[in-house]
Amino acid sequence: MTNERGLLIVVSGPSGAGKGTICKEYLKNHPDTYLSVSATTRAPRTGEVDGESYHFYTTETFERMIADRELLEWAVFCDNYYGTPRAGVENALSAGRDVILEIDVQGAMNVRAHYPEGVYIFVLPPSPQVLYERLKGRGTESEEVIQKRISKAAGELSHLPKYNYCLLNASLLEAVADFEAVVRAERRRVERTLSYIHKVWNLG
Ligand code: ADP
Ligand code: 5GP
Repeated sequence: MTNERGLLIVVSGPSGAGKGTICKEYLKNHPDTYLSVSATTRAPRTGEVDGESYHFYTTETFERMIADRELLEWAVFCDNYYGTPRAGVENALSAGRDVILEIDVQGAMNVRAHYPEGVYIFVLPPSPQVLYERLKGRGTESEEVIQKRISKAAGELSHLPKYNYCLLNASLLEAVADFEAVVRAERRRVERTLSYIHKVWNLG
């Protein structure tokens, strides 16, 4: 292992862009990567399991977690709280495991202020029309919620320049291959390998 600490990989993009699908595919080939399970106050969708898709909490519990600094970051998205539990992420990174956070742009920018060494990836669908079709096809939100989420996309896109990579999710296979390529290249950055090289080559 050339990296003592895991990579923090932050994935954002409009709702329906394919973040969850890409990360799930990536994890099949990289089971040691830690996918952070977020906390939220939104209602579970059909098929979502508490503790797997999200930790579903009441507003009261969520606000207690904010007050107790149990969250690495949190944000309000479409009238609900979302946040990243701190302990799991920090333990995994210290153990040398890569960590994926699938979070909105506000949360990502808050994380970046503390983890500038992270890798910030923005996922985009090929067009607004495709975004609508994917959200519709997912079948998990009402037309009203879909419209609300699509209307947020332009604002989210304005943050794209603050990210390191943009994955255009047309073909899923290619998007996952791009994701793998980004992670592989990021691990080889000189600044991430220096301490290992110094040790092996006795550079003091
Ligand atoms: P997000 O996590 O960004 O909200 P999802 O991963 O839930 O988005 O994807 C939204 C919908 O689009 C899902 O129904 C998913 O199966 C579909 N989808 C994702 N990527 C692709 C793709 N490359 N081609 C076709 N459909 C896709
Ligand atoms: P959804 O309701 O579709 O699961 O998620 C809505 C948005 O919330 C998505 O952009 C998703 O990435 C974001 N999100 C999920 N978990 C978190 C989190 O822990 N923190 C933040 N800031 N955003 C999150």
